[in-house]
Amino acid sequence: MTIDLKENEVKQNRFLTDKFAEIIKAMGANQVDKTYRTAPYDVTTYQTTHLNGGAIMGADPTTSAVNRYLQSWDVSNLFVLGASAFPQNAGYNPTLTVGALAYWAADAIRSKYLKNPGRLVDA
Ligand SMILES: Cc1cc2nc3c(=O)[nH]c(=O)nc-3n(C[C@H](O)[C@H](O)[C@H](O)COP(=O)(O)OP(=O)(O)OC[C@H]3O[C@@H](n4cnc5c(N)ncnc54)[C@H](O)[C@@H]3O)c2cc1C
Repeated sequence: MTIDLKENEVKQNRFLTDKFAEIIKAMGANQVDKTYRTAPYDVTTYQTTHLNGGAIMGADPTTSAVNRYLQSWDVSNLFVLGASAFPQNAGYNPTLTVGALAYWAADAIRSKYLKNPGRLVDA
């Protein structure tokens, strides 16, 4: 896996940065400084990264790895907690949702799974 920027992403960033600058100027800014993102990816200038996916949650075992309780469809005593469950990146920071999902899974393990081990969702 690489998080390096491809040519289309560099162009996309240049286009959007110019558009933002136009909007900000039209709003009356006296000075607008533009910084374009360039390849290669450099962790010293851009440090936040939200990696998601890998063992996504869903309602259908043929298109997802875990169910709504983050329980593996294939191995019922395996629960996979983390941003790996997200099928796509959200618009905002992921960590609170990761925590909420961990709480949700832990609650299901205590209140449902331990009483009756096995798949928690029929599909
Ligand atoms: C610089 C930076 C800034 C960020 N800022 C924010 C922010 O402000 N707000 C926000 O919401 N999110 C932020 N994020 C994103 C957030 O940190 C992640 O989305 C979140 O930590 C993902 O949680 P996770 O449990 O999926 O993965 P992780 O927190 O990465 O946990 C995975 C764990 O698995 C362990 N591991 C890996 N391989 C193995 C193995 N083979 N065996 C055993 N253990 C293993 C790792 O050591 C790690 O502890 C930021 C991320 C970065 C990099």
